[in-house]
Amino acid sequence: MDISKRAQKLEPSVTLAASAKANALKACGKDILSLTVGEPDFTTPKNIQQAAIQAIESGKASYYTPSAGIKELREAVVQHVETYYQLNYQASNVIITDGAKFALYLLFQAVLNPKDEVIIPVPYWVSYGEQVKLAEGVPVFITCAQENEFKVTVAQLEAAKTEKTKLLILNSPSNPTGMIYSEAELRSIGEWAVANDVLIVSDDIYGRLVYNGAVFTPMASLSPSIQKQTIIINGVSKSYSMTGWRIGYAVGDETIISAMNDIASQSTSNPTAVSQYAALEALTGEQDTVETMRQAFEARLNEIYPIFAALPGFKLEKPHGAFYLFPNIKETLTMCGYSDVTKWVDDLLAEGEVALVTGAGFGAPENVRISYATDLETLKEAAKRIRAFIEKKTAK
Ligand SMILES: *Cc1c(COP(=O)(O)O)cnc(C)c1O
Repeated sequence: MDISKRAQKLEPSVTLAASAKANALKACGKDILSLTVGEPDFTTPKNIQQAAIQAIESGKASYYTPSAGIKELREAVVQHVETYYQLNYQASNVIITDGAKFALYLLFQAVLNPKDEVIIPVPYWVSYGEQVKLAEGVPVFITCAQENEFKVTVAQLEAAKTEKTKLLILNSPSNPTGMIYSEAELRSIGEWAVANDVLIVSDDIYGRLVYNGAVFTPMASLSPSIQKQTIIINGVSKSYSMTGWRIGYAVGDETIISAMNDIASQSTSNPTAVSQYAALEALTGEQDTVETMRQAFEARLNEIYPIFAALPGFKLEKPHGAFYLFPNIKETLTMCGYSDVTKWVDDLLAEGEVALVTGAGFGAPENVRISYATDLETLKEAAKRIRAFIEKKTAK
């Protein structure tokens, strides 16, 4: 039987594919160092694990929950946003979802009509464009210069705007670049969005993972009119090391949240109950572990950044958040005799036994993504292997 055109057009996630490939080689006994994954390498903090166990044993995790999530968790999100954004919302402005990824999916399904345009700055997180297409929207990609820290400018937005422009997706700190928009940059973009009635999707998932004094400014906090124009997307995966639990959330306009909830109620019914109780402890319990993990990422970044930046041909500014390096390796490719980053990444895996993700999947075909959500020893050894691989290729 034929599969749908919709499914045929879909690009599978390059990051998940890259890590699956690395794992398959590892399973065959190869000594692969994988810097592909987009998830913290820490186990979920003990207090959160305990809350989940308790929810199971008490029986409260046995049943369906409201499709927008348990009331306590929605209220905890309201409280969390009040603490970290100094913004007031009601529980009716919040939906709990199966990961932030599904919050985005529901949002696009809830607001996009066929041919509506969604502005996506490049490099982008791999799922944005594909999810927009699944909702019959049209992704409009704007390539952002590495010289401008890969950030989109109002002039670029203005040039990309049409009558069909409905949404703008912003992700700061960014996956894959690790760059952060300043308050002034966000303000000018926010004001542009208000003036043009473009809804801002603010993917804040790395908001608490910022380093060396960098500051995360939430878009929604800039003014009441920008707040109204913004849907916050966030979750517990990255800051609490809870990727496997699959809990995210969206916060914003009640009408939109309610439409998202209707779609969720007819698709997943509700996010897993036990995970919701775990997320409740994450947001309301002690927060020291978040800081401990943040410090570990910061220490790694500071140690490995100079090592990777010094690799032959690697062009790389120091990131300020998230846990990725995103060097431009155009010169390296030329030196090694390659014209295609994906082929270089494939050969590095086969011959150098290091797995990276090609920048092509993020819309940046001269870059590679290196995740430093792994231990220092692995990172240093991987850098050595990459150097040896480049030296071998250039010696020819
Ligand atoms: C990881 C990630 C998400 C999704 O996280 P979930 O695990 O689905 O909560 C969303 N946006 C970006 C940019 C990410 O890196």
